[in-house]
Amino acid sequence: MSSSAKHLQSIDAGHYKNTAGSATEIMPIPDLVKISMSQHIGAPCKPLVSKGDTVKVGQLIGDTDAFVSAPIHSSVSGTVKAIETQRSAVGGEDTLVVIEPDKKQELCEDIKVPEVENLEGFVKAIRASGLVGLGGASFPTHIKFNPRNIDDVHTLIVNAAECEPFITSDHRLMLEDTQDLIDGMVLVMKYIGLDEGYIGIEENKPDAIALLDKMLAEQGHDNIHTFTLQARYPKGAERVLVYEITGKHMAAGVLPADLGVILSNVTSIAFVGKYFRTGIPLTSKRMTVDGDAVNQPKNIIAPIGTMISDVVEFCGGYKTPPKKILMGGPMMGRAIFSDQMPIVKNNNAILVFSKEKATIPEETACINCGRCHAACPFNLIPTALADAYEERDAEKLDELQVMQCMECGSCSYVCPARRPLGFLNKLGKGVVKEAGIK
Ligand code: SF4
Ligand code: SF4
Repeated sequence: MSSSAKHLQSIDAGHYKNTAGSATEIMPIPDLVKISMSQHIGAPCKPLVSKGDTVKVGQLIGDTDAFVSAPIHSSVSGTVKAIETQRSAVGGEDTLVVIEPDKKQELCEDIKVPEVENLEGFVKAIRASGLVGLGGASFPTHIKFNPRNIDDVHTLIVNAAECEPFITSDHRLMLEDTQDLIDGMVLVMKYIGLDEGYIGIEENKPDAIALLDKMLAEQGHDNIHTFTLQARYPKGAERVLVYEITGKHMAAGVLPADLGVILSNVTSIAFVGKYFRTGIPLTSKRMTVDGDAVNQPKNIIAPIGTMISDVVEFCGGYKTPPKKILMGGPMMGRAIFSDQMPIVKNNNAILVFSKEKATIPEETACINCGRCHAACPFNLIPTALADAYEERDAEKLDELQVMQCMECGSCSYVCPARRPLGFLNKLGKGVVKEAGIK
């Protein structure tokens, strides 16, 4: 083995990027889709269609006047069979537009490539596209692209770290939709008025870095650069990435725009490039399907609204009975209670694990090894935070800066006593909020 191959093997250890070499497969249109009206942070959309209506791909089917929101479009052509409610992955109630596809995938007549001349037109087009933060946050992108201090922002940072284990969908996007990514960056930088752009990528994706470097040089984009990051979780965390690239500390409550930065996920930026090429709103999603309970782990593009059971079926079905299904990665993803839930805009992975892999060993006593403290990217003291939570001591939790915790789970992961430290911080935040501490 060459020394560079050995180096790559060593930096990939523990990252489980099993599907990095799997070209994305387009999933066939399923027999039914259920499109959620709550696919972003903010107010849910109201359905604009009724049972019996026929719809086309890209047709607006949900919207609201609320400021923090993004419209929702049909991912298929077909007939609306029902408007129903279902318990959502986060516990609340979700309204779903249920559509039976006709499998013709006819495009809506309203679709046209956006023509814009200035920031106002650009932001309007981005809202119309339905784009939200596709890295997991699902914050409506048109708001992020129009910060209050727009004259002070100067740098675009594209988050392409993809540091969560197992997930390789961003990696595949960089290899397969490279031009869309570059075009998206050029558009965002042009309309927001940004001087420089950086694509932060972990070193375990050397082929993506090489391809982007080559294409950026060939096309003369000398104000856009790749930035190689150490392959270490959680390099893709907003505050960590901004620090790595700009050297600026981003305290809790500070936005990237306050530091002159527009930060966006690589999938979101590539979507901008594609949208201004095709005019097709956000109706499908690339994701990694992996885990020891799936027969054929792969990267796929599926229509938004496809049921998770159909996604797993396309990947060869379950190898063993699933014990845990995650939407997202093993560190920050959300465990869901059923595979009868639909894909939403910000899904970047479906991971399915067997009982053997999913069972968390029993917690034992803390041995004061300090590993949790050393693992925290923000120098928090997870043991002290856990003690403060046990006491329900809101002031102490606040003093120990529980609100700075991004719930990355690094402390829990390294803990030999298997203490659920990151989760306790989530509960601790609730104690602080309940106490009304600002
Ligand atoms: S989950 Fe743990 S390691 Fe991550 S930020 Fe919070 S305290 Fe730090
Ligand atoms: S890593 Fe676990 S055992 Fe070690 S000090 Fe932290 S809580 Fe205690």
